[in-house]
Amino acid sequence: MTDSKHKIPDDVLMGYATGSLGKAFDLVTATHVSLCDDARARLASFEALGGAVLSDMDATDMAGIDIAEDSLAQTMAKIRGHAPTDRATPAPGTFPKPLQDMVGGDEDAVRWRSLGGGVKQCVLHSDSNGTARLLLIPAGRAMPTHSHNGTEMTLVLKGAFRDEDGIFARGDIEVADAEVNHTPMAEQGEDCICLVATNAKLKFEGLLPRIAQPFVGI
Ligand code: ZN
Repeated sequence: MTDSKHKIPDDVLMGYATGSLGKAFDLVTATHVSLCDDARARLASFEALGGAVLSDMDATDMAGIDIAEDSLAQTMAKIRGHAPTDRATPAPGTFPKPLQDMVGGDEDAVRWRSLGGGVKQCVLHSDSNGTARLLLIPAGRAMPTHSHNGTEMTLVLKGAFRDEDGIFARGDIEVADAEVNHTPMAEQGEDCICLVATNAKLKFEGLLPRIAQPFVGI
């Protein structure tokens, strides 16, 4: 993590802290936070801030949540719908615990589906807020050049990829939106496995990826 482009934005962490991201982006954020001390510290400060705001509110404002009875951490967990304890627990293997919980195991438990050219994906969750998928890009292989109709959050879990913004290795996150047009390419030596959340279809440039898009669904 050498520059700010490799950092998860504050608004994403705040959205995670308040439970407003949706499940796909929650998963990528929780997995990133478990790999990144900086993101974990920033998230803790947002949660503390959220707790301080809540403690100033009248307890009757919050239906079903008795702030006086709960610790702030428990209150935040109730609002988010998930416990804060998952994310700091290291898990053995390639996948951090939030991802292992979703996959039902580590890398060898993934049910990959081929997208052609050696690229594989496994869709982990999809709803109206977004889709979370694992993507495997063979070492040295480039993804089709594309821009984005919405937001794309890519977290590297294994290997590394390079695009116009630099090199992203394990634990690094890239947030791309409509402004970003890129050609991610896996570095030589090791296949690259990423966890990707998107909330809209990608915009591919070439004709062939556009023809393939309805079939692969990215
Ligand atoms: Zn992209």
